[in-house]
Amino acid sequence: MIESLPDPNRAAQWCAQQRARNHSLGYVPTMGALHRGHLSLVEQAVRDNDVACASIFVNPLQFNNRDDLQNYPRTMQQDIALLQRSGCHMVYSGTLAQFFPEVAEAHALLTQKDRARARLSAAMRGLEGAFRPRHLQGVWAIVERLFRVVGPCQAYFGEKDFQQTLVVKDLAKRFDGIKIVVGETIREPSGLALSSRNQQMNAAQLRVAAKLYAALRAAKQAWQSGVRNAAEIESVMRACLQDARIEVEYVALRDPTNWSEHTPQCDAQHPLPQARALLAAYIGGVRLLDNISLD
Ligand code: AMP
Repeated sequence: MIESLPDPNRAAQWCAQQRARNHSLGYVPTMGALHRGHLSLVEQAVRDNDVACASIFVNPLQFNNRDDLQNYPRTMQQDIALLQRSGCHMVYSGTLAQFFPEVAEAHALLTQKDRARARLSAAMRGLEGAFRPRHLQGVWAIVERLFRVVGPCQAYFGEKDFQQTLVVKDLAKRFDGIKIVVGETIREPSGLALSSRNQQMNAAQLRVAAKLYAALRAAKQAWQSGVRNAAEIESVMRACLQDARIEVEYVALRDPTNWSEHTPQCDAQHPLPQARALLAAYIGGVRLLDNISLD
């Protein structure tokens, strides 16, 4: 039977007990409304470790839009049942005040100026950092607290939120014994990346949303046929997203091993060893995010 703990202090005790028994611990942080993408991370954590735990907390610090926070799906009882079926041993949650007894500290983190932010992690700059002000700082702030609760562990994050994986890797360097494992993006047969936000779209919007993955595939095809000009690859993606129902926020190319807020120079004279195409778009007011490795 899965242990469901509503309190981070009790979760910390549970994790300490596992360590005292020399159990390796796999950990999957989530905001709930679980789907097969989350569960693939949980199953990987179960496979790789003696015990696995997850957290469910809709973190207000990482929402920069009040409606988005209010509309975010919350399905706690169903989530607990899904976690149990995936073999997860413990799930915990908490309140913002429990994670941040000194709430002012959380808010100070969110209002840090650009340069201070970049000192936390260079991956906070550009794309998600630029289009969702304070989002990645909110992620940093809560994941730091979640890691303190769980302690040394293998923590699993999805590649779908690629920039977030870079930020949490930088955060993990500040902890002893936390290793980040990145799991592949789980998709619908249409190619659409699974997301808790997909529930907010109707059938017609879900069909349109499949164009996002088509755009990423087109970028990959262009790259594999030898195109190395970032602007050209970006325009290939934009062409696939030409649809009145899609509001593109960004399409971009980045060097995944050397993150920069700007598009890297890449052409025949300056070939990139690796590249990743990333995009964000709104469909019916729902913000969708996806990316693909080009090489
Ligand atoms: P969230 O609940 O949206 O904060 O997501 C929790 C974790 O699940 C994050 O590490 C996400 O990157 C990951 N995740 C979300 N969607 C997917 C997906 N389609 N495939 C794999 N992992 C995912």
